[in-house]
Amino acid sequence: MRTLRIRRLAAAAIAALALAVPAAAEEVVNVYTGRHYEADQELYKGFETATGIKLNVIEGKTDELLQRLEAEGAASPADVFVTVDAGNLWRAVEKGIFQSVTSDALAARVPASLRDADGKWYAFSTRARVIAYAKDRIDPALVQTYADLARPELKGRLCVRSGSNLYNLSLLAALIDQWSEAKAEEWAKGVVANFAREPQGGDTDQIKAVAAGECDVALANTYYFVRLSRSEKPEEKAIADALGIVFPDQAGKGTHVNMAGAGVVAHAPNRDNAIRFIEYLVSDEAQSYFANRNNEYPVVPVEGAPAVTALGEFKADPVDPKICGENQPKAQAIMDRVGWK
Ligand code: FE
Repeated sequence: MRTLRIRRLAAAAIAALALAVPAAAEEVVNVYTGRHYEADQELYKGFETATGIKLNVIEGKTDELLQRLEAEGAASPADVFVTVDAGNLWRAVEKGIFQSVTSDALAARVPASLRDADGKWYAFSTRARVIAYAKDRIDPALVQTYADLARPELKGRLCVRSGSNLYNLSLLAALIDQWSEAKAEEWAKGVVANFAREPQGGDTDQIKAVAAGECDVALANTYYFVRLSRSEKPEEKAIADALGIVFPDQAGKGTHVNMAGAGVVAHAPNRDNAIRFIEYLVSDEAQSYFANRNNEYPVVPVEGAPAVTALGEFKADPVDPKICGENQPKAQAIMDRVGWK
């Protein structure tokens, strides 16, 4: 009782103090993001603590957010647009969604290949699209390339998520550029012929399906596998232990690598705070978060990044945003034609 009363008095005193100080307009930043990771809440809290700026996050599908930004135009409350796909960063530039931003911190920390030449977007993490296979049922020599996923030996043994998913669309967009539209379509047809089941769920579900014996090979982003391999739940750790990972195309162009990036929206009402948010994304604190909590590859080297520790170094084929963006509609048309639903 006594403690409660003291607490009440203390609260009243604090309230009186707050009234005595004229309230400054609250600093905010509004972010539209296509990221979908639960652990990002921690990142957002980190930003608010580091800067005192209130962060309002609207999560959505990248396509829908882009449409919304276009529809809202100059009236948009959005300050920052975040996506996990290079092609969409390029599309956002084409649509006039972003404005140019210069920042010494961003220029110093983000490698030139991971930011727009005009400062319209900056990448803050990358991820590789790899092949996961059942160690006890698949000879890894069978699955050394993306092309291998269409081999007849894998008939009825492959699990892959939807053909409308960005990760698959960007991979196919890159393959169209590398091979030709016709060859990429032939490949996609072969992949569909190898499906163990209709595409369903996310990358983690494909990995789990391999461990469960529903299929023998899956395509997934690195961080989903590393997350399971680092899990404290024995059943999740066991899933990762049963699987091997191949970085495809090591003897060729390298493994398909996509990026997550952000840019300041053209009519950002809180431009300075928007820049501070993107600067925060490439700070040591946030980079360590991307590496250690979400198992992505940071753009600024971080000590002992788990994805690197778990999977080792590899030859990367970094996505070209322009190629990826321009080929995306062609990739979607192929997916539709071959029935990669
Ligand atoms: Fe993801």
